[in-house]
Amino acid sequence: MPLTGIQIFKLLPKTNCKECGEPTCLAFAMKLAAGKAELTLCPYISEEAKSQLAEAAAPPIRPVTIGVGDRALKVGGETVMFRHEKRFENSPGFALLVSDTMDDAEIDSRLDRFRQLEYERVGLILRPELIAIKSESGDASQFAAVVSKVKQHSDAGIILMSDNPDILAAGLGVSADGKPLIYAATKDNLDRVANLAKEHSCPVAVKASGLEELSQLTTKLTEAGVNDIVLDSGSRTVRQAFEDQIIIRSAALTKKFRPLGFPTIVFPCEMTNDPMKEAVIASMFVAKYGGVIVLSDFQGESLFPLLVERLNIYTDPQRPLATTEGIYEIGGPDENSPVLITSNFSLTYFIVSGEIENSKTPTYLLVKDTEGLSVMTAWAAGKFVADAIAPFVKKCGIGDKVKHHKLVIPGYAAAESGGLEEELPGWEILVGPREGAHIPAYLKAWKP
Ligand code: SF4
Repeated sequence: MPLTGIQIFKLLPKTNCKECGEPTCLAFAMKLAAGKAELTLCPYISEEAKSQLAEAAAPPIRPVTIGVGDRALKVGGETVMFRHEKRFENSPGFALLVSDTMDDAEIDSRLDRFRQLEYERVGLILRPELIAIKSESGDASQFAAVVSKVKQHSDAGIILMSDNPDILAAGLGVSADGKPLIYAATKDNLDRVANLAKEHSCPVAVKASGLEELSQLTTKLTEAGVNDIVLDSGSRTVRQAFEDQIIIRSAALTKKFRPLGFPTIVFPCEMTNDPMKEAVIASMFVAKYGGVIVLSDFQGESLFPLLVERLNIYTDPQRPLATTEGIYEIGGPDENSPVLITSNFSLTYFIVSGEIENSKTPTYLLVKDTEGLSVMTAWAAGKFVADAIAPFVKKCGIGDKVKHHKLVIPGYAAAESGGLEEELPGWEILVGPREGAHIPAYLKAWKP
């Protein structure tokens, strides 16, 4: 059970020295209890208190990192059942399956797709993270050769898939420095796979037949000193696998049941032979509560919607995606270029800036801070109205960059044109299109 603020306070030095950034030890204790402060901020906690507090402050679902460097994937670390309670922390990784029985051409084409299928959206790069290499040949050297090939041609995180410890050891022999996920420890090989995980400091997945066996295996692993664990309940029907995800999350969060307090791995690729159905199953696990989602193949038409779904679910519902307020110069504008203004909702910014680029008309785009609200919502909330826009236009310095002093406002804010002409003497206010798609035609016809 987590400690209360008062219980934590009793373990602190009670000197109120303020070095943690809080005015008192009690205030620091309350923040620790709420998960809003790190234990390391207090330099004076005794070792004994530290170990008690570290156990109590540990997240109910342990974060686990697969891979190294920029492409490393962190999963787990979740603290809520539902996104609206707070937010989901670490988005699941998508893994592409490669078998060691595939020929070179097939492996190459999969690796090409893995590299090419990435997308830019609202300023972020959306792409898959992992390659799962499965031993189907039963031959350790063949497996190691494929792992080596994947490693040479990709910096993605790797999952080594076999239930034979000798084959896993061969894969680790050529990839351990990349901290792959070892899949899987089972009741038959637990000790040997645990030793491999400890020897190479790699995370390990546990596969069981049901949740009871899973709990027993994770308990044995943690007792053996292996803590970076990923759970596979073994279910391969959609209904049972879905139920398992809910029970695992709920047991970890609401019952604080440590043996199931780890991220999960799921296999839509083993639940159907229909690629579209597989994508639908994967989308279910994005929402609830897959940590690693292994797909039989990647195709743009199924991967892109999954990446966008993941982006939507793993953004903070309390903070709209926002762009920084300022002047954005698109296409090298000069003193005769048009000046447009919009809100700082990221999606609005990227649609408007994209359409300006499509128009091939060099343009100044002013982005007004509306706390991440879209134009219409910001206008209705009084954040994109003449009184708010005019001070920004004066302050940002756009008046020194253009000779014409014409400002194009979004069609949805047309009601502000009169107010803006009063607030911005010397500026002519033009009402632009309502929809981003009409911006290119509007700019082509624009005259300074
Ligand atoms: Fe108390 Fe430690 Fe904070 Fe000092 S740094 S006020 S001892 S909690």
